[in-house]
Amino acid sequence: MAKSYDVIIVGAGMVGSLSAILLANSSLRVALIDKHNGDYTLSTPPAYDARVSAISSQSKALLQAANVWNNLPEGRVETYDNIVVWDGLGSGYIDFNAGFAAMPELGDLVENAVLSQQLMTQIQTHSSIDLYLDNGLASYELSESGATAELLSGERIESQVLVAADGAASKLRSENGFSTVEWDYGHTAIAATIEIDQTHNHTAWQSFGEEGVLAFLPLPEVDNRHFVSIVWCVPPEEAKSLTTLSDEAFCQRLHYAINKRFEVLSITRSRQAIPLRQRHAKEYVQSGIALIGDAAHTIHPLAGQGANLGFADVQALVEVLSKAHKRGESLGNSRVLRRYQRVRMLDNISMAAGMEGFKRLFTTQQPLLVQLRNTGMKAFNCQLSLKKKMIARAAGVRKVRTSPLTSA
Ligand SMILES: Cc1cc2nc3c(=O)[nH]c(=O)nc-3n(C[C@H](O)[C@H](O)[C@H](O)COP(=O)(O)OP(=O)(O)OC[C@H]3O[C@@H](n4cnc5c(N)ncnc54)[C@H](O)[C@@H]3O)c2cc1C
Repeated sequence: MAKSYDVIIVGAGMVGSLSAILLANSSLRVALIDKHNGDYTLSTPPAYDARVSAISSQSKALLQAANVWNNLPEGRVETYDNIVVWDGLGSGYIDFNAGFAAMPELGDLVENAVLSQQLMTQIQTHSSIDLYLDNGLASYELSESGATAELLSGERIESQVLVAADGAASKLRSENGFSTVEWDYGHTAIAATIEIDQTHNHTAWQSFGEEGVLAFLPLPEVDNRHFVSIVWCVPPEEAKSLTTLSDEAFCQRLHYAINKRFEVLSITRSRQAIPLRQRHAKEYVQSGIALIGDAAHTIHPLAGQGANLGFADVQALVEVLSKAHKRGESLGNSRVLRRYQRVRMLDNISMAAGMEGFKRLFTTQQPLLVQLRNTGMKAFNCQLSLKKKMIARAAGVRKVRTSPLTSA
């Protein structure tokens, strides 16, 4: 006999895990499956995990509603209230401040491992979620009336709908013939944790120039020492050479790449290289299945929005499925699932288009475009109302106010 659920989720990354908790909080029975063993052993600061996410206020509200944010370990979250962006090839400069938009902060930075561990802790104590770790789908069938599956462990399960949260290389997406629009960004991101000589001032620093796109993201101080997470996006061949440099030579290159704004004292968490690809599924749903998070779309990390878009997918999907459940509609019905797609696709596409535009504009070195870019940045920096709109868009504040999930 197959064990019966309302929803089966494949992928217990940050997006799949949050959706499991919020669906279960909406009285749905959930099976959550991952090939990973769910163990996120945390390093001790200052050896912060190299993978860090900027979390918007909209995402934070969802994580609070899931009882995750308020239980994050102390000293692992850094709030930032300024963003400074400058052009390494000119004098263009933009600064965003939380005060412009009358917001208490612009966002928070947290290690992915810290967030994943707390999501897992919350899931393990939830009576409406069954967790199948070190596991996967051996076979499955999908239809309007739901999904039946056999797990690698041999157990049989069924549900009204299957949610694919299995990340950028989603097997469920390709096996079910979802087509995508995708291309290589021609960039590899190098992520690492470094120590700098002075306070980061709760500011996220970002520079564009000959040295690529470079972000210095503030992390909590330890014993009056100052740490940042870096995301340095460069062409793949350049990334290869940067990852093989000695620590000392790498720190020296970083010091110049950040226009000597900080002395780079040491690397406290080793460099990771991640190739970047823009990808967007042309449809997010079919009968019996919905794609969310990186399984549906990936974008350039230059504005730190990938996970935030995934969390917004979660919010929309949970609202659609819990309403349909209350009305007695079948959750795998394509008419029901298309409501989720309608809410999310335009927002995801417009963010992807924006990132593509930024990436092209800020990585060109053509003198005329560089000059126009610098002039444009200076003009934009004086436009308070435009800056306010951009901050609100990145924070997703409009949606926080209207969501029943976060208004409790
Ligand atoms: C350098 C970099 C910096 C970034 N910075 C930010 C940022 O500041 N802010 C932000 O919002 N976003 C950021 N992002 C994007 C963000 O990291 C991703 O959007 C997010 O992690 C995607 O989460 P996910 O749960 O959808 O996918 P994943 O994290 O990839 O999770 C997928 C899960 O599925 C499991 N899985 C895969 N295949 C199977 C299978 N066949 N069977 C069972 N389980 C399976 C995996 O084990 C994994 O647990 C950044 C990305 C990069 C590359």
